[in-house]
Amino acid sequence: MLERIGFIGLGIMGKPMARNLLKAGYSVTVYNRSRPAVDELVEEGAAAAESPQEIAKNSEVVITMLPDGPDVEEAVLGLDGLLAGANRWLLIIDMSTISPGAAKRLAEAARERGVGMLDAPVSGGDKGAIAGTLSIMVGGNEDDFKRAMPIFEAVGKTITYCGSSGAGQTVKACNQVAVALHYAAASEALVLGAKAGVAPEVILKVLGGGLAQSRVMDMRGPAMSQHQFTPGFKARLHSKDLRIIMETAREYGATLPFAALADQLYTALVQNGGGELDHSALLTVIEKLSNGSIGDTQ
Ligand code: NAD
Repeated sequence: MLERIGFIGLGIMGKPMARNLLKAGYSVTVYNRSRPAVDELVEEGAAAAESPQEIAKNSEVVITMLPDGPDVEEAVLGLDGLLAGANRWLLIIDMSTISPGAAKRLAEAARERGVGMLDAPVSGGDKGAIAGTLSIMVGGNEDDFKRAMPIFEAVGKTITYCGSSGAGQTVKACNQVAVALHYAAASEALVLGAKAGVAPEVILKVLGGGLAQSRVMDMRGPAMSQHQFTPGFKARLHSKDLRIIMETAREYGATLPFAALADQLYTALVQNGGGELDHSALLTVIEKLSNGSIGDTQ
């Protein structure tokens, strides 16, 4: 018998993930701050709830897919939050990207109420969410991980147990360091080429066939070279992730000079009005610094 699932946060990632759970045969109750995504999923067979508390009452497992730590805290600990409606068999799976420290604190608060909680952030982007092929990195109790496995398999492909509470978010922070720096590298390569008169298509083709090849460049390079920045992953969320990375680095005494620079460049992008663009729009910051556009060679 499939467990009844609650789903909170139906944005770029959450909506297709909830849809894949419906497709896998789960009964899903959804809640989101804005209504249109809720209505869409109700038409496809989901039930709607008016609060996280109501979701908890109607579910055995609840997934949260929200922007940042304070949003997850509100959904879990708020007056009408999940713990206010939780039965003792409830398992909360937070798949948002939040700080490892916040993930640990929330799991501890849940544990005090007898409720299990996993941190299970994802990578693979909107395409992975739609295709059900996300990479999922999980922290928390191992029995809870085993219980959640069939649910993870309905939305993801590479599913890795990383360790105790917070370990999934730590791995996600590492992932986001690498992704930010791949975008910085792609942006600088494209701008250098364009300034010297070489078209972006040539740069992408040549780099894609050698040691500089990256998934970031393969997947987003063609859109970047056309200045198409429809999200995807919003720049303001990557800026949030870099804040988490720098806080975590400070906490553990890791020195990350390149991530610190990426943090500043993403701040510049968000402050210049690019927060709702895809994070590949980091290119526009490098273009401005060089007073040029990679379109100039076309
Ligand atoms: P999004 O902004 O598209 O969606 C967030 C959704 O949450 C929105 O529908 C919003 O209405 C809802 N919401 C916000 N606060 C709420 C609250 N307090 N209660 C209920 N609903 C609330 O964001 P997204 O791109 O879907 O990202 C969600 C999380 O996944 C973030 O932590 C992000 O960093 C992470 N993530 C995103 C991607 C990606 O490619 N988009 C990839 C990996 C991880």
